[in-house]
Amino acid sequence: MEEPMVVDGGVPHPPHAGVMNAKTTPLLDDYIISNTVLGLGINGKVVECFCKRDGHKYALKVLLDNPKARREVELHCRASNCPNVVRIIDVYENIYNGQKCLLVVMECMEGGELFQRIQDRADGAFTEREAAEIMREICSAVQHLHLLNVAHRDLKPENLLYTVPGNAGVLKLTDFGFAKETFSKDSLQTPCYTPYYVAPEVLGPEKYDKSCDIWSLGVIMYILLCGFPPFYSNHGHAISPGMKKRIRAGQFSFPNPEWQNVSQDAKDLIKGMLRLDPTERYTIFDVMRNKWIVQYTEVPQTPLHTSRILREDCDQWQDVQDEMMRSLATMRVDYDTLTIKALDNANNPLLSKRRKKAMDH
Ligand code: ADP
Repeated sequence: MEEPMVVDGGVPHPPHAGVMNAKTTPLLDDYIISNTVLGLGINGKVVECFCKRDGHKYALKVLLDNPKARREVELHCRASNCPNVVRIIDVYENIYNGQKCLLVVMECMEGGELFQRIQDRADGAFTEREAAEIMREICSAVQHLHLLNVAHRDLKPENLLYTVPGNAGVLKLTDFGFAKETFSKDSLQTPCYTPYYVAPEVLGPEKYDKSCDIWSLGVIMYILLCGFPPFYSNHGHAISPGMKKRIRAGQFSFPNPEWQNVSQDAKDLIKGMLRLDPTERYTIFDVMRNKWIVQYTEVPQTPLHTSRILREDCDQWQDVQDEMMRSLATMRVDYDTLTIKALDNANNPLLSKRRKKAMDH
């Protein structure tokens, strides 16, 4: 049964949101680990496991226990009650292969990756309305995270997985390896955080982390609607060295014939999500209020070129993924630097005092 939701100041959360509650008993008391590897990540592998009690299949992610892994699991647990986020079932703190590990039992996503499913479609063309339905699911997950002051910062195609194959599948977001807690003005005003000394301009930078997710949403929406990514000169045959430059310059277009019949509403939404200046970029709340998302059931059922292009360019898909990974990594560094600079420039008495002290020494 689902845990009852508690609504506090408009932010829904389960009664124990944010608590990792790791078990210290052996995972092997409760689960049987199988030899089937579900996927390989940068931080370790994800394997299949079965619950001894009910025989259900789950996915087990093994992470070396360190502060970064703890943050990943903590933030994923916090977001895990969202219907569009992969659900965490159990977390164990165990010695595994002689090392202190965090063992994360998650629901097993058996429906595969988002774009694989679109590429494999045999039942007629993928339409603009279906793209809108998918975007709404992904945006709901991002809205849930941003309301909890969590920025995912690694929102990319391979982290969007379906529960089961076929139409019954629900699309969910996973991998909180780069997620970051952001403090909005509101959260800083709650009693435990009231920093009376923080100047208003310091309260802005949390926007950068969240804007990273919106950029990803823009790129994913663009690919959904045509099958190739936005930052190419001509519908992406081979990734040119100038691509990074174009990403930085925010240059992209909607080339024909792929974009010819796509609605202006969709193009305008993408433009808002891919604005170069992160402070100008749409927030998730702007996106969720947008007509194309709110009225997704009325979006035209225009057939798209997406499935065909994904099939034709499938040998370049790894390059697309690699480039998105690199762009996100660059963006995280850029925005972290901007945040530090904003803190540096802030007229903050405590910081000024600290800075003066540092200069005196
Ligand atoms: P990393 O953070 O190390 O990159 P991920 O969490 O992205 O690891 O997982 C790596 C791969 O494992 C994914 O790309 C996916 O193929 C698979 N995977 C992850 N979580 C699940 C899950 N809950 N169910 C099924 N497969 C999963």
